[in-house]
Amino acid sequence: MVYPTIGILGAGQLGRMLALAGYPLGLRFRFLDPALDAPAGHLAEHIHAGYMDTATLERFSAGLDAVTYEFENVSVAAAHFLSERLPVYPPPAALEAAQDRLVEKTFFRNLGVATAPFAIVDSQADLEAAIPQIGLPAMLKTRRLGYDGKGQIILRESADAATAWAALGDAPLILEGFVPFERELSILAARSHNGETACFPLIENQHRDGILRLSLAPAPDITPALQSAAEHIALRALAALDYVGVLAIELFQVTSGPNSSDLPLVTRHSSLVVNEMAPRVHNSGHWTIEGAETSQFEQHLRAVLGLPLGATAARGFSAMVNLIGTLPDPAVVLAISGAHLHLYGKQPRAGRKLGHITLRAENEDLLRARLEQWQRMIQ
Ligand code: AMP
Repeated sequence: MVYPTIGILGAGQLGRMLALAGYPLGLRFRFLDPALDAPAGHLAEHIHAGYMDTATLERFSAGLDAVTYEFENVSVAAAHFLSERLPVYPPPAALEAAQDRLVEKTFFRNLGVATAPFAIVDSQADLEAAIPQIGLPAMLKTRRLGYDGKGQIILRESADAATAWAALGDAPLILEGFVPFERELSILAARSHNGETACFPLIENQHRDGILRLSLAPAPDITPALQSAAEHIALRALAALDYVGVLAIELFQVTSGPNSSDLPLVTRHSSLVVNEMAPRVHNSGHWTIEGAETSQFEQHLRAVLGLPLGATAARGFSAMVNLIGTLPDPAVVLAISGAHLHLYGKQPRAGRKLGHITLRAENEDLLRARLEQWQRMIQ
């Protein structure tokens, strides 16, 4: 028996949880990340270096069976360099599509999937011309390197354009129409080498200050039609990218289609609008560790290795709470029945994701009671 070694670009908490899921399968891991005290570095071999240096990439890739990544801002050039030497999944083309909001939105539109209306903004004049076209309110976002609500500003009136431009204008931008969503959802889907696919149940996500705080899974009140509309979007994206691994797609649920009558969209009348995708395991999928038959982390590894995909059904009802900035007393968390605590080994800092808790229950009422118990405890 040969135990495969997987190389992972990035050694954050997603990498750490990938390794934790891979050890029962006998997998080994090597991480590449310049951070000295990265969460996955506590678990496996960790090369402390940047992603761009070809000598480092050679050293990192020597003897590996496959490479994957745990964040989407890996340089596409580095992914291509590695893919000439060994299997790199998800394919670098998926990275390319996910790294730039303009390319990403164009990709979904070309698939006939609804997105917010958008316009490219490279100058203040572009911004002023885009506002009447897109309408207000609108979100001005950097095309690249935005995450957790960073690199974006909401424009409520035309007079906001000058300050928004002054704040973000030194990078390529996109203006997006504000989607009046009812709630935010995500769908996680996986595709293996042989084209086998599997989707997890839709998840409801609640954000504050642009950061995910709470995920409910399966999302409450999902009709079979809505689940299949989300799966339809995910499966089209997986096929178009010849994807291998777990793909996360963030969605807005709206009462009627977005204000985009200019678009020849197959899904214009659906109540799902794509916000963005992540070509990797995703924060909104952490509940799957205890809450689904197969965790998103194991599923990603199965796909990357060409193993059969696992069942994706939920085991009861789960709520995932992110621990941001400060850490609770573990004893307080673990006193809640059905609570599972995950700490990433990071030092507390304002706004930093330090861990998460998954509360699990056999029915939604019990889950709500456990969530309220947690909320009372932290007050
Ligand atoms: P993002 O970085 O694009 O995921 O945006 C972070 C959060 O900002 C999202 O989860 C939404 O809550 C909100 N948001 C982003 N884009 C839009 C939009 N076009 N319309 C409404 N809300 C948005």
